[in-house]
Amino acid sequence: MSKQSLDEFSRNKLRSLERRQLRRQQRVTDPAGGMIVERDGRRLISFSSNDYLGLANDPAVVAAAMEATRKYGAGAGASRLITGNHALYTDLEQALADIKNTEDAVVFGSGYLANLGAIPLLAAKPDLILIDELAHSCLLSGARLSEATVLHFAHNDASEAAALLEQQRKDYRYCLILTEGVFSMDGDLAPLPALAELAGKHDAWLLTDDAHGLGVVGGGRGSGFAFDADFEVPLQMGTLSKAVGSYGGYLCASHAVCELLRNRARSYVYSTGLPPGTIAAATTALNIIRDDPQRVARPLALARQFTHAFDRAAAESAVVPWLLGTSENALAAAAALEDQGYLVAPIRPPTVPAGTARLRISFSAAHSDDDVDGLIRALQTDSLQTPGSKN
Ligand SMILES: *Cc1c(COP(=O)(O)O)cnc(C)c1O
Repeated sequence: MSKQSLDEFSRNKLRSLERRQLRRQQRVTDPAGGMIVERDGRRLISFSSNDYLGLANDPAVVAAAMEATRKYGAGAGASRLITGNHALYTDLEQALADIKNTEDAVVFGSGYLANLGAIPLLAAKPDLILIDELAHSCLLSGARLSEATVLHFAHNDASEAAALLEQQRKDYRYCLILTEGVFSMDGDLAPLPALAELAGKHDAWLLTDDAHGLGVVGGGRGSGFAFDADFEVPLQMGTLSKAVGSYGGYLCASHAVCELLRNRARSYVYSTGLPPGTIAAATTALNIIRDDPQRVARPLALARQFTHAFDRAAAESAVVPWLLGTSENALAAAAALEDQGYLVAPIRPPTVPAGTARLRISFSAAHSDDDVDGLIRALQTDSLQTPGSKN
């Protein structure tokens, strides 16, 4: 019976994950205000949320979502090209284009969908894609879907990217360079001025995934604005689900590129528009990011308070990795912190390369100074300092 083989297939895969300490358990996590969550009846201070500015629970953002939901309903009902293109999108796309200083912006159902839609539209079989080896899964998925030749360069190594372009660029028609602006699991910035210069020199198109940059670095405008240098990133993609506190993905680019995406990006054309409340929440949150520089500065300041306490290089974003090597160590460290009242999720392969399992600590404007001091003290205990781990 085919059902039998299907379940056997699934059980075998799960057993293999378990043997390698890679099976994941989803746990029910109830938000309990700010960065507090409840798990199994216990209150924990979360350092694992990407809600870097606390906007998901901001009263103005929540009120905008509720008002739009009451007025326009819970769902969009159709793709944007049919009847799902709510007027609320006009303000949202304008706010995004303004913050990223581009001609236009196009909003997708999620960040993942933005990359799955945009990349295969901009590159195809005769083209070349260069991608940072640590770039997010959805950049790689988009690259594979494109059927272009995909070459990886070592993490943040612009000179390796340069060498690849020197050798390979002439054999291909168009070329895309893909990187995260702020790396999601390491918190470091990509060398964007160098990559932009390379792109200019070799007629390549630079796309940055700024999921962890918007609202946090570059005065809240993202990684393209985080350097004392003048350069252009023609394709600035990101998500509305992290610092913006809502849901959805975007690509900021020229009017021509955005119009092409609206016409032909499959994940845009064949997927339903966002719920009105989600759109209204995102626009309200972006206005707060534009107008409240103190709030925007806070997550990076807290991350630097943390790296300073451990004599580490100053954090470049709101994300700080705490490397532990094996999955077993990462699981044990997370459990030890949970006992002390902190939720810091362990990150294991394949999200990070083998041998680099870690705690990924993310800081939010919604954390108090005491929250951060408490986490620092908890991590200063011997059991969490793994020999050989270089933090
Ligand atoms: C979270 C994330 C995404 C996906 O965004 P969603 O809107 O959650 O689908 C894309 N890229 C990076 C780097 C991310 O961290």
